[in-house]
Amino acid sequence: MKATYDVREFPLEYPFTISRGTQESAGVVVVRVEDDDGTVGIGGAGPSAHYGETVGTVEAVLPDLLSVVERVGDPHNVARVETGMREVVNDNPAARTAVSIAVHDLAAKRADLPLYEYWGLDPAQSLDTSYTIGIDDAETMREKTRTARERGYGTLKVKLGTPRDEELLSTVREAAPDATIRVDANEAWTPKEAVRNMEWLDEYGVEFVEQPVPAENTQGLKYVYERSTLPIAADESCVVASDVPKIADRCDIANLKLMKTGGLREARRLIHTARAHGLEVMCGCMAESNASIAAACHLAPLLDYADLDGSLLLDRDDFEGVPMPAGHIDLQAVDRPGTGARET
Ligand SMILES: [Mg+2]
Repeated sequence: MKATYDVREFPLEYPFTISRGTQESAGVVVVRVEDDDGTVGIGGAGPSAHYGETVGTVEAVLPDLLSVVERVGDPHNVARVETGMREVVNDNPAARTAVSIAVHDLAAKRADLPLYEYWGLDPAQSLDTSYTIGIDDAETMREKTRTARERGYGTLKVKLGTPRDEELLSTVREAAPDATIRVDANEAWTPKEAVRNMEWLDEYGVEFVEQPVPAENTQGLKYVYERSTLPIAADESCVVASDVPKIADRCDIANLKLMKTGGLREARRLIHTARAHGLEVMCGCMAESNASIAAACHLAPLLDYADLDGSLLLDRDDFEGVPMPAGHIDLQAVDRPGTGARET
């Protein structure tokens, strides 16, 4: 097997602001793993500075990770590839995920099956993704909401965590009276603020609230959970499967992301661990291209909620993936083996 990578930069359609800052483009590292027959598996890393990764850190560790793939030599032994990568680097989850996706894509292509089918999942159990409205001035958020509704997105995720939260949310609700609305505060609120905000969030018909308080404030999360009338999702508080028992008594929904877990096998472990603890499960994403989003889409039958709009937020993506007409992750429309990621 031969493994290579290259770096891309995709501009976002709109500058993307959350409580922690603004991002104008997505740096993506594309990994290719080729078997001796010339079949190529594609994976992607969408590194997140919040978890200590950049395109530069991904590039720094990839040569070592790719040499693990070449050393294992068996495209079907994903377990050994993932274990071998953990022996080479302790952290760097987005870099490891890119390799994990590429090897899964190759294995499913060799079996001539779409990844969900390779996993034995039911494509009819798929979901709609939410579409994220980043923080902006009220007028711009109104326009983005209208555009999202015109494109058919029925579920919106609204980023909050500003002094103007209620104004911003009321603007979005006014522009999308019949949409399902989820809110993500990205750790911005104190526990008391969060509990106060829940009251009006509930009045605007919000479905659930993601990461109201800082991840390190585990007591604060419990305080909010015990007082909130709305379901709570844990994102920054829930990175890998072993985090699930720590949050299980203080949230309703575990939000995994491939770029946090370090691979598709750990992602599935997290899903099953969350279920065993009675939690619902959502899969989110970073600003990512279809080189990685396509793989996450194949987890949809295992999820309760999908927030896989990474490629939808890009102004340009060199890769197409799983079709998402009006936000529906249409696994039944996947007409090729593997993840469906293909360079256009
Ligand atoms: Mg989040």
